[in-house]
Amino acid sequence: MERTFLAVKPDGVQRGLVGEIIRRFEAKGFTLVGLKMLRVSRELAEEHYGVHRERPFFAGLVEFITSGPVVAMVWQGEGVVASARKLIGATNPLQAEPGTIRGDLGISIGRNLIHGSDAPETAQQEISLWFQPAELASWDPCLGPWLVE
Ligand code: UDP
Ligand code: MG
Repeated sequence: MERTFLAVKPDGVQRGLVGEIIRRFEAKGFTLVGLKMLRVSRELAEEHYGVHRERPFFAGLVEFITSGPVVAMVWQGEGVVASARKLIGATNPLQAEPGTIRGDLGISIGRNLIHGSDAPETAQQEISLWFQPAELASWDPCLGPWLVE
């Protein structure tokens, strides 16, 4: 079953939006299989955002993501990677559609609340970067047949 990696960034934690963000993925029908709060090391931040290493915002991004606790999660469900990106919305919250997390809750690209993997391959890399296998729970929600025919 497809899985994606999501992280509520330090701004989402500080603003008390962890519950609101989790609620949206639960309500959609996806299954939470991993969850932890942690203070991100510089090493983990630089690895996670390695693809952006040469970009002008890289240093500030690493600084920000290590500035306070984040809530790291793994969610499961058919099509969860692309769907989570839709629920999250465009990178710049001012351009993100209303109804999305960033569109409803944010105004700044450097404070856009949440990270979501951008493709199934990236999701697998990010899940193994952030979580040990034993930290993930495989379970079947009893609502399964009411969510998927
Ligand atoms: N970012 C930024 N300034 C930019 C572009 C990106 O601060 O001009 C930050 C922003 O927090 C974004 C993260 O870098 O979420 C990673 O950028 P990416 O393009 O991968 O956006 P995402 O996949 O998070 O939508
Ligand atoms: Mg990205």
